[in-house]
Amino acid sequence: MAGDRFFTTKVCDRCGRTLDGGRTMSMFNEQTICMDCAAKERERPDYKAACDAEIAAVRAGNRNFKGIGL
Ligand SMILES: [Zn+2]
Repeated sequence: MAGDRFFTTKVCDRCGRTLDGGRTMSMFNEQTICMDCAAKERERPDYKAACDAEIAAVRAGNRNFKGIGL
């Protein structure tokens, strides 16, 4: 699901900081984000809805799910 861009991008799509400390895919959209931004996502009240939508999409065979959006 993560494309080559996920592995080649150098800075967080959201805050612009370096990804040297780790990177992950946003649960809400297709951004590659740093661990700080990922932690902030997990604090959002709609984080579970984003997770559920992702799981449901994969289960339905949709490997290109774009996320529910921020
Ligand atoms: Zn970030």
